Amino acid sequence: MIEKSNSTNYLWGHSRRFNAYSNYMQKKFGKRIQKVSLDCGMTCPNRDGTIGTGGCHYCNNDGFNPAYCNSNNSIYQQIEDGIFFLSQRYRADEYLAYFQTYSNTYAEISRLEKIYNDALSHPKIRGLVIGTRPDCINEDILDLLEKLAETKEIYIEYGIESCYNKTLQSINRGHDFETSVMTIERTAKRKNINICAHLIFGLPGESREQMLNEAEIISKLPLNSIKLHQLQIIRNTFFEKLFIKDPSYFNIFTLEEYLDFIIDFLERINPKFIVERLFSEAPPRHVISHVWGKLRNDDVIRRVEKRMTERDTWQGKYFRT
Ligand code: SF4
Repeated sequence: MIEKSNSTNYLWGHSRRFNAYSNYMQKKFGKRIQKVSLDCGMTCPNRDGTIGTGGCHYCNNDGFNPAYCNSNNSIYQQIEDGIFFLSQRYRADEYLAYFQTYSNTYAEISRLEKIYNDALSHPKIRGLVIGTRPDCINEDILDLLEKLAETKEIYIEYGIESCYNKTLQSINRGHDFETSVMTIERTAKRKNINICAHLIFGLPGESREQMLNEAEIISKLPLNSIKLHQLQIIRNTFFEKLFIKDPSYFNIFTLEEYLDFIIDFLERINPKFIVERLFSEAPPRHVISHVWGKLRNDDVIRRVEKRMTERDTWQGKYFRT
């Protein structure tokens, strides 16, 4: 059992019961850094026919972009529009350019170089966050990211989604878990590239025990951070069709079930991992499985932390080194 370091502070240096991203960023930069989403008009090999055409069974990236994100505009213009939009809601000092939808390393290296540099040329952009698939990376791209990381903050997000190949096959993911491990290990050999992994809980066929076991599996990987999601059934996906036909095929987490599950998961995860996200945040109008009432994201986080206090537990309590 990993003990907390003293009565008020945990291993990550503050009193919150998990290694929260917002605290990490505040400590690292000493100011508020906000992500500004960009759409550079990418697709993904699981949609354009290279690997598949239907995409992952849960995926619908369309319509998720914030209103200010328009792939017809230049990257610089999108940043300007995004900063204007965000500045009305948050007081951020600097921003990270967030390439979020589809696979944002899936292009010729010359195009990637231009897109990334366009974003970094904006004076308020401190670095890049690049979401992609583990099979959309090569040494040339890693060379480019490592070079950019000499002067800017570079974060790459890989969609692992599940550690089980049977699940990855059944959701039409188009790559296996070994590819995720290999890519993460290759990336970790490069200097100053921060690596985040996404996992989805509640994919059909996985038991609670298997999902909890993923904490142990990914804790061994050289990751900096994790993003955790509960499965939601999104409109215009293959899963929507299945859900309408037979909802019993899915085990959709209720809020109460998820609170206890995610705390059990956090107890087992490497305490060094920064937790960037604890649950999915798809806009309710896109979700056909039940949503958790009208709770705001902050409310859900508060409930997680309240229950962690009630259980007197913390991230990594049962992490085994
Ligand atoms: S989840 Fe990602 S990899 Fe899968 S279809 Fe959607 S964009 Fe492609």
